[in-house]
Amino acid sequence: MDLSQNVKAVQEKIAAAARAAGRDPAEITLCAATKVQTDETIQAAIAAGVRLCGENRVQELTAHLEANAYVGADVHFIGHLQTNKVKQVVGRVSLIHSVDSLRLLQAIDAQADKLGLVQDILLEVNAAGEESKGGVSIEELPALAEAACSCAHVRLRGLMTIPPVSAFPGANRKYFSQIQNLFVDIMSKMSDNQSIMDCLSMGMSADFEDAIAEGATLVRVGTALFGPRPPLGTAH
Ligand SMILES: *Cc1c(COP(=O)(O)O)cnc(C)c1O
Repeated sequence: MDLSQNVKAVQEKIAAAARAAGRDPAEITLCAATKVQTDETIQAAIAAGVRLCGENRVQELTAHLEANAYVGADVHFIGHLQTNKVKQVVGRVSLIHSVDSLRLLQAIDAQADKLGLVQDILLEVNAAGEESKGGVSIEELPALAEAACSCAHVRLRGLMTIPPVSAFPGANRKYFSQIQNLFVDIMSKMSDNQSIMDCLSMGMSADFEDAIAEGATLVRVGTALFGPRPPLGTAH
């Protein structure tokens, strides 16, 4: 596996998908999903041109920060976040993608207040209504978006979604399209100018081109950059 070749190939596919959709490739940000990767691999990815890393687990985020593994890149938190762990994330990442409850939102707001900063967030939407997954339901999204806008120490930047594991190519386009519509809808209702809805985080290795066709501004890619991960539970 050649990481720098993979980075280049993914960047080229992103640009091609953007052009095919009549979009400017510069509108789309590649976020390298770095779960289970070592400090050295993260540094190699950054040397190969990655400018943004997305971390899933608080423990890995903390370890990589301590090791200065992200130097040269920005870092986002993209995994499920427990309320009791917000202290380890708020103020340490430039964007939290996975806010999906009022309780979590309020915990982030309170911690950001304590640190005297404003934390950028996305709301994670459970587009397919899968019970096993995080994310706010489509029905509950408007109320959570409103709550986010009323938090003084949180800035709502957009939405994130993780659709079902794709049954066949193109299977997730309908979810991407649905979330893009919700994104536009919420944006049009924003009245406070602290919120800049400019981020639609959707698409992973198997479907980032479809997500770009449906309006994604940020794609989270792991496997296509780093190769297959060891099965869950054997990684550490
Ligand atoms: C692992 C992960 C990704 C990347 O998945 P790949 O299929 O390996 O590209 C994207 N988003 C989140 C939230 C992830 O946990």
